[in-house]
Amino acid sequence: MEAIECDLMIVGSGMAGMAASLFAGQRRIDTVQVGVTGEIQFASGLLDLLGVHPITAGSAVQNPWEGIRQLAKTRPNHPYARLPLGTIRTAMETVVEFLNQAGLPYFRCADRNLRMVTPVGTVKPTYAVPETMAAGVRALEEKWQTLLVDFHGFKGYSALQIKETLRREWPGLRTLRIPFPGLAGDLYAERMAMALHRPENRRQLAESIAEGLGGCRAVGVPAVLGLYRPQEVAAELGDRIGVSVFEIPTMPPGVTGLRLRQTFEERLPDMGIRTWYQQKVSSVRRLADGRFRFELDNTISAKTVVANSAVLASGRFFGRGLTADRSGIRESLFGLPVVQPSSRDQWHHRDLLNPSGHPINRAGVEVDSHFRPLGRNGAPAFSNLTAAGSILAHQDWIREKCGSGLAIATAYGAVQQAISICAAKKKQPPVVG
Ligand SMILES: Cc1cc2nc3c(=O)[nH]c(=O)nc-3n(C[C@H](O)[C@H](O)[C@H](O)COP(=O)(O)OP(=O)(O)OC[C@H]3O[C@@H](n4cnc5c(N)ncnc54)[C@H](O)[C@@H]3O)c2cc1C
Repeated sequence: MEAIECDLMIVGSGMAGMAASLFAGQRRIDTVQVGVTGEIQFASGLLDLLGVHPITAGSAVQNPWEGIRQLAKTRPNHPYARLPLGTIRTAMETVVEFLNQAGLPYFRCADRNLRMVTPVGTVKPTYAVPETMAAGVRALEEKWQTLLVDFHGFKGYSALQIKETLRREWPGLRTLRIPFPGLAGDLYAERMAMALHRPENRRQLAESIAEGLGGCRAVGVPAVLGLYRPQEVAAELGDRIGVSVFEIPTMPPGVTGLRLRQTFEERLPDMGIRTWYQQKVSSVRRLADGRFRFELDNTISAKTVVANSAVLASGRFFGRGLTADRSGIRESLFGLPVVQPSSRDQWHHRDLLNPSGHPINRAGVEVDSHFRPLGRNGAPAFSNLTAAGSILAHQDWIREKCGSGLAIATAYGAVQQAISICAAKKKQPPVVG
């Protein structure tokens, strides 16, 4: 079987793998990306940069850049601390700009976290929200009289629960439960979103909401306003009803993650990335000339990729970048050492809700300042391998509320290193004989 050759192989198609492919594509690096669906599919669509620091105090971060500066001082081995603030800014700007141009626009305030309502009625600090959620940020901030809508048969989302949880902070909320146009029985976000691509369903939905609007100044609905260009659906409903309509994230799996995934999957090939989604790297070995040889497997065919360098963005336990059994935690593909508690009984605190988080959540791959994973001797395991995203050690993205930001920023750092490896390789004289 003939091997496919490339300069850069990206393993993973979560936020870190997608962002790495984007950065590589913009620099015209000859890249192959492989990955089975990652956590991005389940994401709420919010782009978190740093929402909580320090986590022991549970303090909400107002200015994420100042928060990262503080974090880097107090936790110098955190992956964010390996990057200058300006680089993290560039990485975030690049991804937000890409999404804006690709038809999935985002809203943010330069140096201030936004506050967004979650599907359970709590409020979460986040860096950027899909444009369809922007009016919700403003409505909460200014405490507008707002109507929260939910639907018969749509489980895991209750307008009443959101209203009750927010009662003190946002007294001007009212609720309305209505049938969803064009569908009956149990409702699922993806089907609802597809149903709203039909004009007749949008018209009916707008009419039902308008009937229950009362004097409200805005309407919040679960995030089901279409799979593609949801901002146009929100704008049309807003025009018909006469007030702003905004989305609130739903419980996973929703369509917000799907929108992100589709946007990357559709655009990256146009940038020259050879994408093989739903394919798994089953093994890798290093060749005598230093390149990596990856074997890919799916049920239909097998493929081989030979790459000058690689970015490992294979995630944690969910993505299967890390696996764990009774003897410890392992990195699945390269067999890299994993920083982890010394014994299994130290993985978790006795107190489930311990504010400092469980030690297992900070386990991961240790990298140097160029994002090269370290081997057992503390030196880079391979000069041409970098790692990015949630697989990295010394971070707890769930508690720190920094999932996408960490994935994007570290992907930028990892790709920068890969670019310098490719440039150095091109300068080398060809091997004769
Ligand atoms: C329910 C949920 C909600 C979230 N909400 C938010 C949010 O509101 N805001 C936010 O900023 N972030 C959110 N996140 C986090 C975010 O989506 C990412 O999980 C996080 O940023 C980590 O991304 P990652 O790319 O490092 O890992 P993952 O997303 O886990 O991706 C790892 C990828 O590697 C692939 N892979 C692993 N091994 C192999 C192999 N051998 N061969 C090929 N492919 C392989 C996996 O299939 C997967 O594609 C949420 C996550 C979840 C689960």
